[in-house]
Amino acid sequence: MSDGRCGKAGAECQDFAERCPLFSANWPGELRRKEPLAPLTTLRVGGPAAVLARPGSIAELETLLALLEKYGCPRRVLGRGSNLLVADRGYGGVVILLDRRLGRISRLEGDGAKWLLRVEAGCSLAALLGWAQERGLGGLEFLVGIPGSVGGAAVMNAGAWGEALGARVQALELVGPGGRRTVAAAELRFSYRRLEGVDPGEVIAAVILALAPRPIAEIRARMRQLLQKRRASQPRGVLSAGSFFKNPPGDYAGRLIEAAGLKGLRVGGAMVAREHANFLINDGGATAADLVALMEQVRERVAAHGGVRLEPEVHLLGFA
Ligand SMILES: Cc1cc2nc3c(=O)[nH]c(=O)nc-3n(C[C@H](O)[C@H](O)[C@H](O)COP(=O)(O)OP(=O)(O)OC[C@H]3O[C@@H](n4cnc5c(N)ncnc54)[C@H](O)[C@@H]3O)c2cc1C
Repeated sequence: MSDGRCGKAGAECQDFAERCPLFSANWPGELRRKEPLAPLTTLRVGGPAAVLARPGSIAELETLLALLEKYGCPRRVLGRGSNLLVADRGYGGVVILLDRRLGRISRLEGDGAKWLLRVEAGCSLAALLGWAQERGLGGLEFLVGIPGSVGGAAVMNAGAWGEALGARVQALELVGPGGRRTVAAAELRFSYRRLEGVDPGEVIAAVILALAPRPIAEIRARMRQLLQKRRASQPRGVLSAGSFFKNPPGDYAGRLIEAAGLKGLRVGGAMVAREHANFLINDGGATAADLVALMEQVRERVAAHGGVRLEPEVHLLGFA
């Protein structure tokens, strides 16, 4: 540690959490040791983060990233945990939680036909949709029912019904160990559940979106219609991360899983949902190991049945 680096990671970091140098660095945000991550994800499985850090502003995020760089500390960002599977042993590093404390929305400029909004990454999609609807700003209705944060939705290029968030993004405000930068949409590449143009060490701190004025009644009606469609096709009241696998080109993961006869397939407490085969659910008491074993079985059996190897859409945290 003579050069200021801590260098602990994985199990070593979990053990070291009591002496983590971050706690004596006078960082003004909230810090917790050995914080359970399961309640912070929609699948509700997985172990603790050695350290959970909750910045209350972009300035705090910036100083945090500089400190983590100085200590050589592994880290991952967590939004609403709605696309994340956390390992049973947890994550041996710092999880940076971006929640409503970093969730401000502001109107930047507009010319009557187009309005630019700046939305901090920790804002939930639900809060953003409510804000936009109240002010008669349309263009995001397709996101209704997706339980993520704005930052997570940008990373995932979240979307539904043939539309995706990337098409509304004008720029991203990024924070890395070296400071802040703003990247215009022209330098980013959004594709199916993927964003390129952000360095691996950078965190999305805010998203600049372009929305168009639309009658409030129209926005509400569209959102109601899309929510009904969603409810008719997806399981309700279950613990999931939404669609578990990406759709392969020209087909649907759910169709392939169903065709392989895997609806209702179970490993421990993890199960392929009967209502929608691309939902792998925690049916009560599932572990991350159950979900991973189920994921592998589904991949193998779909490949054996239809020759297609499914790729997970869900991100993994804390696995080797
Ligand atoms: C019931 C249900 C329905 C769903 N339906 C849909 C759907 O229709 N369409 C769809 O696209 N998705 C859907 N999802 C998946 C999920 O909600 C989206 O992918 C969502 O955008 C993820 O946001 P999050 O904040 O939860 O991200 P998280 O799960 O917290 O994180 C996802 C990944 O992004 C990284 N990340 C998060 N925030 C940042 C940031 N600010 N900077 C850098 N990296 C970051 C994380 O490290 C992780 O790798 C659904 C999920 C559920 C549970």
